[in-house]
Amino acid sequence: MYRTHTCGELRAKDINLAATLAGWAQTIRKFGSITFVDLRDRYGITQLLFGEELSAQLNENALGREFVLQVNGIVQARSSKNMGLPTGDIEIKVKSFSILNKSMTPPFTIQDDTDGGDDLRMKFRYLDLRRNEVKKSLELRYAVSRAARNYLHENNFMEIETPFLIKSTPEGARDFVVPSRMNAGQFYALPQSPQTFKQLLMVSGYDRYYQIVRCFRDEDLRADRQPEFTQIDCEMSFVEQEDILNMFEGMIKYIFKQVKGIDYAEKIHRMTWEDAMWDYGNDKPDIRFDMKIANLKSAFKRNGKIAATGELINGAGFGIFDNAETVVAIAVPGCIDYTRKQIDEITDWVKRPQIGMQGLVNIKCNDDGTFKSSVDKFYNDEKLKAIAAFANAKPSDLIFILAGTEEKTRKAISELRLEMGRRLGCRKKEEFKLLWVLDFPLFEYSEEDNRWVARHHPFTAPKPDHIGTMISNDPVITKAAEYLKHPYASIKANAYDMVLNGNEIGGGSIRIFQRDLQEKMFAALGMGREESLHKFGFLLGAFEYGAPPHGGIAFGFDRLCSILGGSESIRDFIAFPKNNSGRDVMLDAPSAIDEKQLKELSIQLNVK
Ligand code: ASP
Repeated sequence: MYRTHTCGELRAKDINLAATLAGWAQTIRKFGSITFVDLRDRYGITQLLFGEELSAQLNENALGREFVLQVNGIVQARSSKNMGLPTGDIEIKVKSFSILNKSMTPPFTIQDDTDGGDDLRMKFRYLDLRRNEVKKSLELRYAVSRAARNYLHENNFMEIETPFLIKSTPEGARDFVVPSRMNAGQFYALPQSPQTFKQLLMVSGYDRYYQIVRCFRDEDLRADRQPEFTQIDCEMSFVEQEDILNMFEGMIKYIFKQVKGIDYAEKIHRMTWEDAMWDYGNDKPDIRFDMKIANLKSAFKRNGKIAATGELINGAGFGIFDNAETVVAIAVPGCIDYTRKQIDEITDWVKRPQIGMQGLVNIKCNDDGTFKSSVDKFYNDEKLKAIAAFANAKPSDLIFILAGTEEKTRKAISELRLEMGRRLGCRKKEEFKLLWVLDFPLFEYSEEDNRWVARHHPFTAPKPDHIGTMISNDPVITKAAEYLKHPYASIKANAYDMVLNGNEIGGGSIRIFQRDLQEKMFAALGMGREESLHKFGFLLGAFEYGAPPHGGIAFGFDRLCSILGGSESIRDFIAFPKNNSGRDVMLDAPSAIDEKQLKELSIQLNVK
């Protein structure tokens, strides 16, 4: 038997017990003629004490860090206890040992505060995985998947696997493709999600499906994305939006309880997409803090109308505001004491290419009811007071105002709000705030192709009373700059996102389940009949054999784990992640394949 106990198991009550442990030598400390070794395994660390004779044998073997050791000994009380370790009251007085395997000196220390940089740790991921931090992340991931499975099982969901080698139907992200040897010149695609399969399963009558499933998207890897990632993918038949919201509100609360011990008692707050964009400039607002946007002027349409025309700011001779499409403000609480230097720094922050603003206007709301602003020349105290009141500012607040084109400015104010929230300590990772964002637009305008694309995906149903607008209007956009005026811009979908602390953790929709409406949808997206039959004929066909009304949702499993684990990075929660260029630096993949393989696949490369 290799071991009687794990390295995390023995306590003071076990003193005098004979024990055999096996694990890795984390640290080796020599004191004169005796040696202490911290032995580590998945469960913890236990101190080993090697007396004089055994220490000499250790020296002969040149015991080093990460050697694999097996020791027999007796549990005894430690002379100096380590309160930081669960096993810190005891140690093993070693009677005999054997070195099961040697180790090279590891390229970084395998400790919580390692000296290894990101690249090195990725290259030697199997060593990084020995670190407590990473292990805790994987344990949390396992706890989340267990909780999700339990909940879904209890609610009659059935886990069904769907294929990975499928047909390429790029819509949204780019597909990863796999050449077929047996069908020369033809390719499979890896699924971006099991979307159409789960819908087909509904047609087949499996009315509650789920799968914790890998998805593949060949996207440029913007901040913290992975080319392969995992979803908790779900679909239900005979449901309305409300049924889905309730079911998955239940699931997330169950996960919170099981994994974090948190009773998330309050009903998850709901917000329409329009309100989210209007108040927060963002479809996944972080509602752990308030600081809502004041829309002084905006081209954004709410309920089909422009809702802010700029009376408070127009006509004062300040060209930047007068000529801007959008002018938006936030009142940052209690920041009146910001120095010139601090404000300059934030101004530079909004001018960075990622944000792309030309400048930042500020108004300081003095405690005595007067104002000091960077636009005093144009706006007297009375006008500033009106702007401050509109922005909901209190004495001692600092108002920031941005002006420019609609989309860019709204995005910028949203980023600025998040940044100020961060600076003010309003975004604590131990605080969790969930939100449903509802009533998303069905379509989004693609500048690149000058056509409509599906905001969620092409299988999402329009709201029933918006179907008429979709059918009776020509999708063609004649003036690209005026796409917002097109009737399609106002069509809403029964689509919903679940947001946690400003991150989209899940999204789904009620689906189209009638062939003719699905065909109209494809046509609205500029897909000809031929093309839609070629790409989605199987689904259109299935809809002719009694497709039930259905809808679903998918959760970004890696992201959910990282937020619950209090980390910014999803990589920590994936055993073998890729780096920012989509490379597995441990495997050195992707890599070239040899001529023979290429030949078998009938592929000729055109790479210099
Ligand atoms: N398949 C969708 C996605 O990956 C989720 C859904 O609509 O259920 O975003």
